[in-house]
Amino acid sequence: MAERRNFEVIIIGGGIAGASLAYFLAVRGVTDTLLLERETQHGYHATGRSAATLVEWDSIATVQRLKRLGGDFLKNPPPGFAENPLVDHSQVMLLFRDGNLGDFGKSVEGLRRDGVEFHELSGAESVARISALTPGDSARSILLTSDGRIDVHELLSSYLRGARSAGVEIRTGAQARQLIVERGRCSGVATATERLHAAWVVDAAGAWAGEIAQLAQAAPIRLEPRRRSIVIFDPPSDLDVRGWPFTISEADQIYFGPESGGLMLSPMDQVPMAPCDAVPDDETIAAAMERLRVLAPRLVPRALKRRWAGLRTFSPDSIPIVGEDPRVRGFFWLAGQAGFGIESSGALGQIAADLIARGATRMFDATILSPARFGA
Ligand SMILES: Cc1cc2nc3c(=O)[nH]c(=O)nc-3n(C[C@H](O)[C@H](O)[C@H](O)COP(=O)(O)OP(=O)(O)OC[C@H]3O[C@@H](n4cnc5c(N)ncnc54)[C@H](O)[C@@H]3O)c2cc1C
Repeated sequence: MAERRNFEVIIIGGGIAGASLAYFLAVRGVTDTLLLERETQHGYHATGRSAATLVEWDSIATVQRLKRLGGDFLKNPPPGFAENPLVDHSQVMLLFRDGNLGDFGKSVEGLRRDGVEFHELSGAESVARISALTPGDSARSILLTSDGRIDVHELLSSYLRGARSAGVEIRTGAQARQLIVERGRCSGVATATERLHAAWVVDAAGAWAGEIAQLAQAAPIRLEPRRRSIVIFDPPSDLDVRGWPFTISEADQIYFGPESGGLMLSPMDQVPMAPCDAVPDDETIAAAMERLRVLAPRLVPRALKRRWAGLRTFSPDSIPIVGEDPRVRGFFWLAGQAGFGIESSGALGQIAADLIARGATRMFDATILSPARFGA
């Protein structure tokens, strides 16, 4: 049977952004959708390389609200959505010490405002949770008591399963090479072999979203992919790290937490680069180990077990871009999810689906996310 060429919506990108949108569109009755993923598997890029953590705190208030809304979805998904829990509630500890102590009060205020569950901890109470820490006498922490690690595989496959069972067509190994734009309207995409038509073309291409927008001659919004790395190593044999909260120290520019019996750590690097299959860099990792030597000297490993890197993609104001392009009708942005695209997918996917299916959303002030905020 010949493959279909006309759809209501074509989504470019089968990471968490594209998959969540396909699912939430289907929930709203829009099932005439095609999801195109260039790789042979979903989640090969940023989505499959994340730290997989729900942290309902952020220094940008809008981002914190998106994480909070996304967290609600992860903690209370609709019945039948997933086969396993999406968050493990293993907790997240935000450490404040010399360098960022001044941010503690503002963070507490913001978490209260958004109704995030947390406890304040003294330095001694922080060390009681993570015995290897040497945070200094004045240190304090915020423990996010209902946050923790996300089962990203389960989340991504649940979005895809839900979309597929509602009739959404999902193609892998299918790259959008050109966008069809006529008289200021985007009406489809061209792959290597065919032209596909739709009323809406959605740019959910992660690090490549800027390139796709250029192909559509959309508003020239600068998206910046930045590399972030993660390493996995064993803790000292006499330390049981399994019950530790995931710990973030902005002052030391590292985060770490338990991962399959070992520890994962990120140097919190953010090196701008062109979209690519990102790989970690030795010097960045070595420098992070020197910072770990100050914060938790016992944890510095002799060897690493695994390492990887991925790209987090930022808009000019670090707030995601969701909405129809101000220049090219029918071209819809779902991009710039930076370092929180997994945890916020339950919010951003719904906001985008509302805007496409209904032209408006009650979930969020869509003007804050609109590409029009950067001008046409
Ligand atoms: C190291 C690291 C740690 C992170 N930690 C967290 C975390 O703890 N919590 C959190 O919520 N987020 C985290 N993030 C951020 C999160 O991973 C991203 O925000 C999210 O995955 C972005 O999803 P996406 O679908 O937009 O991008 P991607 O997952 O990159 O998906 C985009 C897809 O588009 C496809 N594509 C591109 N061009 C085309 C084309 N022309 N045609 C067809 N397909 C195309 C790509 O192949 C890709 O699969 C982290 C990221 C990194 C790198």
